Amino acid sequence: MIQPPTDRLGRPLTDLRLSLTDRCNLRCTYCMPQALFGAKHRFLPRRDLLTFEEISRVASAAARLGVTKLRLTGGEPLLRHNLAELVTMLAAIPGIADIAMTSNGTLLSAEHALALRQAGLTRLTISLDALDAPTVAAMSGSRISPEQVLRAIDHALGAGFVPVKVNMVVQAGVNEHAIIPMAAHFRHKPVIVRFIEYMDVGGPQDWRHSQVLAAREIHRRLDACWPLEPFDPAPSAHVARDYRYGDGGGVIGLIAAVSQPFCRSCSRLRLSAQGMVHGCLFASGALDLRHALREEEVDDQRLTALLSGLWQRREDRYSELRHSRHDAAQPPVKPFMGQLGG
Ligand code: SAM
Ligand code: SF4
Ligand code: SF4
Repeated sequence: MIQPPTDRLGRPLTDLRLSLTDRCNLRCTYCMPQALFGAKHRFLPRRDLLTFEEISRVASAAARLGVTKLRLTGGEPLLRHNLAELVTMLAAIPGIADIAMTSNGTLLSAEHALALRQAGLTRLTISLDALDAPTVAAMSGSRISPEQVLRAIDHALGAGFVPVKVNMVVQAGVNEHAIIPMAAHFRHKPVIVRFIEYMDVGGPQDWRHSQVLAAREIHRRLDACWPLEPFDPAPSAHVARDYRYGDGGGVIGLIAAVSQPFCRSCSRLRLSAQGMVHGCLFASGALDLRHALREEEVDDQRLTALLSGLWQRREDRYSELRHSRHDAAQPPVKPFMGQLGG
């Protein structure tokens, strides 16, 4: 039995985020803006992406160190073919109790949702930033309609993903008008809208504090329409603070990644599509597992030791330090969400 490692700040390792591809069919302005991810952008060639077998080996090693939760993300995870096959492989790993996925939903058919559910996917989060077509088109940098994403949410519910979570990135002056309509639309439905503060990650180099609408303010606006009460069955385990409507209208989440960082309880490791493991969204150090797997042909024991070593050296808490570092305006490393999956 391996002793589960803790990092230098005493945090255990419980979650692994798997970015399955750096590609996406959308060009959200806050993540993969068209200006940087246009026709000239070179995405990873297929051979550089970890295979399902390689991803499963890394997930198994992480499970031996205490990881119980996996999240499939990207880029857009639904761009990986035969995704249900990967979910089946991951669900068979001893110790893995929860396999979630975050997707933009545009490629999710009813059949696909059901196949993923049957393969062992336990939870589904779908991203949607507004209900009005102009805002969705502008923020997604693409010709998608809100109805397309709303249909995906229905497919997810139909396949038994209850509740479905909906991620809404809130940008001051861009889609703050959509906060109340989004909440109103999903009240009394088995859907939890999670309002996310705009973070200084991703492609845009011009992130400014003034573009962040603080979770506190989002809460104030929602509470003025429908009084909210705290609702957190397991507060330390969540990055979102959950609230429920006092009138029984359901639950919402607030992700205050900028204004109230949660580094103290951050127990996540991130595997990029090309096999780099990062201890933090903003970590400068990363471990090249693709090289270890392919060139060094490491065995499972060595793979587990590599991950354990990385975790034990970890002392990242970028978001907590963001304010004191703000004179520098930008983080030391600005990873693309498409590589690390948020
Ligand atoms: N393509 C999928 C999607 O959009 O759901 C999965 C990958 S995406 C990088 C994961 C989540 O990160 C999405 O909910 C997205 O809205 C969020 N995200 C991306 N860039 C962000 C930013 N700058 N600040 C806050 N959240 C962001
Ligand atoms: Fe694609 Fe998701 Fe990034 Fe939007 S947030 S560009 S859907 S990876
Ligand atoms: Fe975790 Fe790094 Fe984000 Fe802090 S800044 S919550 S350590 S990923």
